[in-house]
Amino acid sequence: DEIDNDNNSSLMPREGNVWVEEPRIGVFLCSCSGFMADELDFAGLCQEVSTRPRVVCAEIIDHACTAEGLVDLRRFIGEHELNRIVIGACSVREMERLLDKFAREIGFNPNAFTVVNLKEQCLLPHQAEDRMVKAKAAVLVQAAVTKVYRDLPAVNQTVAVEQRALVVGGGVAGMTTALSLAARGYGVALVEKTDKLGGRLLEAHYTIKGSAPRTFAESLAAEVDENELIEVLSEAQVVGHQGEVGNYTTVVKQGETDHLLHHGVLVVATGAREASTDEYLRGQDERVLTQTELEARLASNPESLQSIHSVVMIQCVGSREPGKREYCSRVCCTHALKNARRLKKENPDIQVTVLYRDLRAYGLYEDYYRAARQEGVLFSPYDLEAKPDVAVSGGKLQVSYNDQVLRRQLTLEPDILVLSTGIEPGDNRQLAATLDLPLDEYGFFAEANSKAALVDFVGEGRYHCGLASAPLHIEETLARSRAAASRAATILARENIQASKYAVLVSTRLCSGCGLCVDACPFGAREINPENNIAEVHYDLCHGCGSCAAVCPNGATQQIGFDKGQMMAMADQLIK
Ligand code: SF4
Ligand code: SF4
Ligand code: SF4
Repeated sequence: DEIDNDNNSSLMPREGNVWVEEPRIGVFLCSCSGFMADELDFAGLCQEVSTRPRVVCAEIIDHACTAEGLVDLRRFIGEHELNRIVIGACSVREMERLLDKFAREIGFNPNAFTVVNLKEQCLLPHQAEDRMVKAKAAVLVQAAVTKVYRDLPAVNQTVAVEQRALVVGGGVAGMTTALSLAARGYGVALVEKTDKLGGRLLEAHYTIKGSAPRTFAESLAAEVDENELIEVLSEAQVVGHQGEVGNYTTVVKQGETDHLLHHGVLVVATGAREASTDEYLRGQDERVLTQTELEARLASNPESLQSIHSVVMIQCVGSREPGKREYCSRVCCTHALKNARRLKKENPDIQVTVLYRDLRAYGLYEDYYRAARQEGVLFSPYDLEAKPDVAVSGGKLQVSYNDQVLRRQLTLEPDILVLSTGIEPGDNRQLAATLDLPLDEYGFFAEANSKAALVDFVGEGRYHCGLASAPLHIEETLARSRAAASRAATILARENIQASKYAVLVSTRLCSGCGLCVDACPFGAREINPENNIAEVHYDLCHGCGSCAAVCPNGATQQIGFDKGQMMAMADQLIK
C-alpha cells in the first residue's frame, strides 16, 4: 500500500512506503561550483561510500540548492529507484527546507533525506588541516549513510488549520497585511501597542515623489476599521505564544484583559524608529534637527524657514560605523534629498550643503539626486576617518569639514544643521523571546534566507514585514507586506496540515503511563489518556523537540529520524 501523507494536497504525488521497501541509498556530494569537490576529495569519497551495502549510487552534483541541482537529483532518484538519500552540502537548515518541499513534490518521503553540512561543519573550520578535513568529511558521510539506512517515514498525522491570522503591529505594514488577508476572506486579529493605527507614517508628511503618506496611513486605518473581518486590539501587547504552524495560541494583554487568540499564521510588523544620537551637538543646541523634525517643520510651518539662509545636512550619523549601527539605513539619503529639494522649493536662495559618505539614492531615486544638484543643492563627501566637526562660536553654529575637491578645510555657518540618523529597530527582544523568533545582529527580525525567503522565518507559518525586518522605503514595505500576506495565505488556504516531520510516535505496547514525557514536554503536547493510561501526542502542539523521547524510560516514545537504534549506530560509525 502507499501512504497518502498529505490528504489535503491532491496535487502532490503519493509517497512510496519506505517501511516495506528494500533500502536503496543514493549519496550526492555537492561540489558548490567546484569549491568543495577538490578540497574534500569527493571523487575518493564517492568511491569509498559506494562500497557500503545498499548504496546503489554515489555521485558528485553541482548546486544542490538550485532548481538545476534538484533536476539532476530527481533524475538519479528515477534512474536508480532510490528511496533514501544522503546529501553532502552546506547549511542543513537551508537544505532541509528546500528538500522537504522537493520531496513532497516528487512523492519521496521527506524523512528519507539526510543532509550533511560539509561546508560549515567540515571544510571551513578545518581548512588548514588537509588530512583532518578529508577524514572528517568521510566519517560524517558514512554516519549519514548509517542513519538513512534506518530511516522511517515521517509521522503520518495531519492537524486542522485555524483559518485566522494574527498580525502584530498596526503600522502601514501590519494594516496592509491585514487588509490583504481579509480581502482573501480570512479573519485577522491586528494587535497595536499604541492607541492609534498608522505607525511611523503618521509622522511622514510627504514622500520624495510628492505624495502624502500620512493621509495614506489614515485612509488605510479607516479601511481597517470598516473591515468586518479585522479585529483591532489597540493598546495591547503579546505576552504569551505557543503552538505549531496552522495552530497557534497567543495571549494578548489589553489593559487588565487577557485575550486568548487562536490563529493559523502570525505576521510580525512591529516597525522601527528614527535613530537617536548625541553627536554633532544634538540635544545641546536646538538648531540641530533630525530629518524627521525638519520635515515636520517644512510641512507645518514653512514660513519660519524664510529667515533661514543656510542649511547643512550630515549623512550617515551613527550609521555604517564600527561599534554603532554598522548597516546602511537605506532611506536616509533619499530623505535628505527630499528635504533639501523642499527647502529649495520654499526658498530658492537657501544654501543647502549635504555632507555625505556615499549617496545611496539607488535605482530611480538617482533622478532625484540629479534634480537636487540642478536646483543648486551642494554635495560634498567626507570620510569616516575625518568626520565633520560641529561647534558653536559667537552664538553661531559652525560646521568644519575637509573639502575633498578643494583639498582644504572649510567652515560653514548654517542656521540649522540636519542630521540623517538612520533607522534603528525598536526593542524587539521581549517580543522575540515571547514568540521564540530570531533577531539579526542589529535587532531586526531575521529572515530565513536573505535571497530567497525575505518575509519568512525559518519554518512555515510565521512571517515578518515592514521595518520590523529592515529599513525600507514605503513602496518596499508595501511589497513585502503583500508578500507576507501571500505567504500566510498559502497556509490558511489549507484545511489540514502535515504535523512536524520530527513529531514523536508512541508505542502503546511499551508505554507504562509514567507521565515523565508529560512533565518533560515544554509545549504541553503530551497528555495521559485516562481511559488507557497511554501518553498521547497532540500533533498540533508538538514541535518535534525530542525532550519526551529523551526521558522515556521504556523507549515507548521514539522520534522519527532520531530513534535510539539510529543514534547508537551513528555513534558506532563515528567512533570506529
Ligand atoms: S542611506 Fe545614506 S545616509 Fe543613510 S546610512 Fe545609508 S549611506 Fe548613510
Ligand atoms: S515517558 Fe514513556 S513510558 Fe512514560 S508515559 Fe511517556 S511514553 Fe509512556
Ligand atoms: S517534548 Fe515531545 S511531544 Fe513535546 S514538543 Fe517535544 S517532541 Fe513534541
